[in-house]
Amino acid sequence: SPGLYIVATPIGNLGDITHRAVEVLRGAGAIACEDTRVTGKLLHHLNIKQRMIRYDDHASESDRERLLALMETQPVALVSDAGTPLISDPGYRLVRMARERGIAVTSLPGANAAVMAVTLSGLPNDRFLFAGFLPGKAKAREAVLAELAPVRATLIFYETAPRLEASLQAIAAVLPGRDVAVARELTKKFEECRTGLPEELIAHFAQHPPKGEIVLLVAPPSNEPAGDIDIDALLRAELM
Ligand code: SAM
Repeated sequence: SPGLYIVATPIGNLGDITHRAVEVLRGAGAIACEDTRVTGKLLHHLNIKQRMIRYDDHASESDRERLLALMETQPVALVSDAGTPLISDPGYRLVRMARERGIAVTSLPGANAAVMAVTLSGLPNDRFLFAGFLPGKAKAREAVLAELAPVRATLIFYETAPRLEASLQAIAAVLPGRDVAVARELTKKFEECRTGLPEELIAHFAQHPPKGEIVLLVAPPSNEPAGDIDIDALLRAELM
């Protein structure tokens, strides 16, 4: 039926797409995507022939209006280059406007690098804060880390290989003594997740320059994993 379908696609391994996602992509009236070349490859792999409409960070009001008009009469799928749309990817304004206009909006869950990394890392997972990409400039990067310093949760950042070392240096300086995890090339052939102090990982990656896509995680401030807290004792205390 008509509406907006937010569809998660693989983050590397093409097997990581749900049956429902394939059905929705096949049955949609159009697929809005960041890059028609990237999505074209996925559709080709899935043997789907579909009309693609570019929708990226540079989309204009009229691009949005055109898509919103389509959604009134047919199913429109929104995908990004990889993983879950809107998670450090375009789509927020489109979803917001569709909702405001009473257009049916639903989301098909699937691959997401941040969630996968937190499950792999061995860092506490009861509370985590996804903070997107760190700023590229040193001052701004340190300011963001300082702002997050008191947060009692595992911090998750999206990262790129060329910036990894600078980010690890900044974490060593602003959040000293905390374990970090570097999760790389998730779901792909050279998938790896390494945990240690930032200094240790800086030394490692100096020998083995990192390639590919990276999620960077930072342990919460306490040495005691938040997961060790006795929830029953806390609940008993609250009831008394
Ligand atoms: N929407 C995507 C998702 O749901 O994960 C994220 C898109 S964001 C523009 C791209 C960033 O996600 C990369 O720089 C990297 O930090 C992370 N990422 C995406 N795929 C990854 C992978 N296979 N392994 C590690 N990190 C990945």
